Amino acid sequence: MSSQKNNRILNLPAEIRNNIYRCTLSLGVKRRIPRNGDDMKPRDYGFRLLQLCRQINVEARSLLEQSVTAYIPILGGMSFDGLISNINLQGPSSLYPVQNTLLTALLTFHQVHIHLHTQWFLCACPQKHERVHPSTEYIYGRLRQALLIYTSASQKVSHASGTLRRRKATIHLDHLLCRWFGMIDIRGPYAFSDILKIMARDTFTDWSLRFYVAANDMLTWTVLDKMACDGVAEVRKLIRQYEAVNVTVTVEVYGDKGIWSMEVKERGGDWLTRDVTPSSKLWPSWPDDVKWRQG
Ligand SMILES: [Zn+2]
Repeated sequence: MSSQKNNRILNLPAEIRNNIYRCTLSLGVKRRIPRNGDDMKPRDYGFRLLQLCRQINVEARSLLEQSVTAYIPILGGMSFDGLISNINLQGPSSLYPVQNTLLTALLTFHQVHIHLHTQWFLCACPQKHERVHPSTEYIYGRLRQALLIYTSASQKVSHASGTLRRRKATIHLDHLLCRWFGMIDIRGPYAFSDILKIMARDTFTDWSLRFYVAANDMLTWTVLDKMACDGVAEVRKLIRQYEAVNVTVTVEVYGDKGIWSMEVKERGGDWLTRDVTPSSKLWPSWPDDVKWRQG
């Protein structure tokens, strides 16, 4: 830590300091994705800025937390409850860096994109089917833990700039309601309605709930309607129950099947879009060979 008085950055006008922070922390990038523990991507050394001195840390951090979307991957095998009890028992330094990053992002960022991911494997049968990992059945419980942590901080974060500025959270269910749906049995003690209840209680956040639906060769509206009966309809029903809450729901359709233009008006209306939100390739998911999975 250098002495604050002699720090040349701190002698510059605030606007120039902010520009330095923006460049060093690449704040032009709209979202930040935490490194997966195993990936070999080089570290972003710009973040050393946060270690320069206390005042720079405070200023640069608040700029980061207010202007960048934190991407938070959730997998069936992650235990946020476990992180909290580790902190209680052994202190914050007992966490791995990526665990620390995820926890901090939930507690401090103004905008978050929480995205469900899953590992997958090849079935032992001769056809070698691709199957999502069985731990995905606990995904609602994991998402619930993350949301409890996130919502506990919302009142504070939404007032961080001095006036009320509501947090923005995208909860992206990936393929949970379509392609994963038939592969796993969500047996955990928590259901989608528990997730919505937690969201409903947090009135300091504007919520956007999104998920993918694949419209490829095998799919027709009949199939899509069937899925709507199983998964999408449940979501619609529950959202209606919580109408007072600021939750928007969007189904992101992709694939080359021409179901879109004909039927969208009657069936889906504003619910459906062809604008697919990219998700991260740094964390495992299935299917991962689609072009909107990005680094
Ligand atoms: Zn098989």
